[in-house]
Amino acid sequence: QSVVNRIAAGEVIQRPVSAVKELVENSLDAHSTSINVVVKDGGLKLIQVSDDGHGIRYEDLPILCERHTTSKLSEFEDLQSIKSMGFRGEALASMTYVGHVTVTTITAGQLHGYRVSYRDGVMEHEPKACAAVKGTQIMIENLFYNMTARRKTLQNSADDYPKIVDLLSRFAIHHINVNFSCRKHGAARADVHTVATSSRLDAIRSVFGVSVARNLMKIEAADDDVSSSVFEMDGFISNSNYIAKKTTMVLFINDRLVECTALKRAIEIVYAATLPKASKPFIYMSIVLPSEHVDVNIHPTKREVSLLNQEAIIEKIQSAFESKLRNSNE
Ligand code: ADP
Ligand code: MG
Repeated sequence: QSVVNRIAAGEVIQRPVSAVKELVENSLDAHSTSINVVVKDGGLKLIQVSDDGHGIRYEDLPILCERHTTSKLSEFEDLQSIKSMGFRGEALASMTYVGHVTVTTITAGQLHGYRVSYRDGVMEHEPKACAAVKGTQIMIENLFYNMTARRKTLQNSADDYPKIVDLLSRFAIHHINVNFSCRKHGAARADVHTVATSSRLDAIRSVFGVSVARNLMKIEAADDDVSSSVFEMDGFISNSNYIAKKTTMVLFINDRLVECTALKRAIEIVYAATLPKASKPFIYMSIVLPSEHVDVNIHPTKREVSLLNQEAIIEKIQSAFESKLRNSNE
């Protein structure tokens, strides 16, 4: 049984960066305004995510890391949106099968917090009272300690830290009302460090730099055609002065960071046709549409999505890009 659980868990958490993504999404779901990430040894030794969110209630701690335990059913009424947002109550549970998980948390109005460690889905001991400020800190130590081959492969390849920095950069330019930081354990300097702002462009500038931000244009598109699916899109896209070796596409659909290969390709085609020299664009895009129109790939880690009426939506977005790029080129 434990071998089966471990293999399943290794599918949900494939690499250190997948663990960080799940933890940060949980912090965002807990309405945090400040999220700090610390990583040691590319995440294999330590991943620590601290937030100032609503915390976890004492009575929820015993079942916190059981599979299929999620507190998000009431908040997101219908099962469909639960599914489309990827809430399966599987992430934390999985981490306890492939690493050592310690949770420190305090809820509003409490005088002290609790700390508890988990292994293989269960608490290792009763929660211990401890000092705590606000929110939750989750620590994953020795990720994949019991998966020798996985650990070896990860140790031999470039470590996940740059991927983790990239991930936090993406979260930071979408959730601009949240303070993010990401640093290596023991490092004085953070590699991602943002302060809440009301300007998306300021956020992009602080994360991706002036040279990116100064070459961006705002884009918007909406579709109120009743016969197709209703969606809204807005974002920032690079102009003809932005030259890069590869496309950067930061895509949020209904506030979830996802990938949509078909959409990315479609946009690259428009760039190649209108701005051949700048054919590897920088794109930040946020799309909002009814949750039942989003289909998250069954694969838990990839977050590749497909959309209902995808072709129609892609066409609308393509033509918004086309007119924007043409106008800027004149
Ligand atoms: P899911 O996010 O799909 O509900 P997870 O395994 O990621 O499942 O998390 C399980 C539960 O643990 C969540 O539903 C939430 O109640 C709680 N939780 C996890 N992380 C936090 C956090 N940082 N702050 C508050 N609650 C959290
Ligand atoms: Mg989660």
